[in-house]
Amino acid sequence: MKNRIYIKDLKENIGKEVIIAGWVDVRRDQGKMVFFDMRDMTGKVQAVALPNKTEVIEKAKEIRPEWVLKISGIVNKRPDKNIKEGVLNGEVELEVTGIDVFNKAETSPIDLTTEGYEIGEEHRLKYRYLDLRRTRMQKNIRNRNKVAKLIRDYLIEKENFIEIETPILSKSTAEGARDFIVPSRLDQGKFYALPQAPQQYKQLLMASGMEKYFQMAKCMRDEDLRGDRQPEFTQLDMEMSFVDREDVMSLNENLLIEIVQKLYPEKTIQEIPFPRITYKDAMEKYGNDRPDLRKDKDDKNLLAFCWIIDFPFFEKTDKDNNVGAEGEWTFTHNPFSAAQPEYHEDLLNKKNIPNILTNQYDIVLNGYEIGGGSIRNHQPEALLAVYEIMGVKKEEVEKNLFYMLEAFRSGTPPHGGIAWGFDRLMMLLENEPNIREVMAFPKNGEGKDLMMNSPSELGSKQLKELGIKLEK
Ligand code: ASP
Repeated sequence: MKNRIYIKDLKENIGKEVIIAGWVDVRRDQGKMVFFDMRDMTGKVQAVALPNKTEVIEKAKEIRPEWVLKISGIVNKRPDKNIKEGVLNGEVELEVTGIDVFNKAETSPIDLTTEGYEIGEEHRLKYRYLDLRRTRMQKNIRNRNKVAKLIRDYLIEKENFIEIETPILSKSTAEGARDFIVPSRLDQGKFYALPQAPQQYKQLLMASGMEKYFQMAKCMRDEDLRGDRQPEFTQLDMEMSFVDREDVMSLNENLLIEIVQKLYPEKTIQEIPFPRITYKDAMEKYGNDRPDLRKDKDDKNLLAFCWIIDFPFFEKTDKDNNVGAEGEWTFTHNPFSAAQPEYHEDLLNKKNIPNILTNQYDIVLNGYEIGGGSIRNHQPEALLAVYEIMGVKKEEVEKNLFYMLEAFRSGTPPHGGIAWGFDRLMMLLENEPNIREVMAFPKNGEGKDLMMNSPSELGSKQLKELGIKLEK
């Protein structure tokens, strides 16, 4: 918009007539004068319509919260007694000279002037486009962008990574959770799967010679939504060639420290370097593998990171796992992980199975697992051995994962990586109680999008095209 200035820049324009655009925030009609706050993406300012401007005051009496306006006005310094210290535009106000209405707004079905925690989440999610207008949500979503930008800059500029997008229409692979499935119309009876993680693609990118890959990756897992899970979430996913465990851990540790120190200077990291705890010690000492090490659990600015290492590679299956028959061995974290070097022979010989340790590392923050990764097998025999231990026949692996095995037979360098649960990290950095507060359009606890009303039924024509008959 021509000549529009941002609300944050008003204080540089004292004495001038300017144009701003945005939403009406709160409004106080004092009879002779009307005060209202205007809000744009950069902040708020108090506007005042004075009695001497008849046309303006008449319009100002009409406007309501959440209307979208263009305002022209003179930036005035507030009298000393009215200055609000430490608030954006606390020292100025806008004396309105003109009001143009772009869009009126019905009374908002949810209160947008509070932090919103007191409002039932069904309402907030139904009207998410309104809910996101509240100051707290604006801050969360904008800070999420700042963290993502720092990550991108750090990895690309400083560490020579490139960001590569991997497919969303992918293939069903057993990676621990259930896949979301997409029916193919052109090839009826066949299905794509949405990726649970870009694990195989990123390893194949190492085979391709990319060496340092990352992606802010959407991951989809069709799980029962216990606690704070979302069917769709974002990972900071990375993979590197010619690295050992130490390389991956130190790069990630430095990146986390940089995020906190640059973007959250009010926060303290309890211990640097991050403590490293073996899985065995964590289980013995804390009874879980994501201990909350904070010395003061009431200090909302304390961040206690730690690494958990030396996980067992295999465990006996339970019914939630879809690889291996019940009661057989399955992987604890990732079938593509390598065993620690001293257990490599055991893995190839399929012996000493319960004691084989993987190269897996998890990063934990304040009692939450915020990421995990491993050094991978890059030799076909080792990958085959992992699957054989889990009771999957060699021929079957050759059939299902032929492209991985072929890649491993075609010059794949040693490699390893990690993925962070980006939503969870943001939740902790923003001191929010759940990840929905840092996602623009989350699903509710039952996996529903209450705003668009999804999942939804398909019409018979669409079903027919897909060759799908629904069972009643
Ligand atoms: N793909 C793994 C996951 O989603 C992370 C990794 O090992 O890089 O948990």
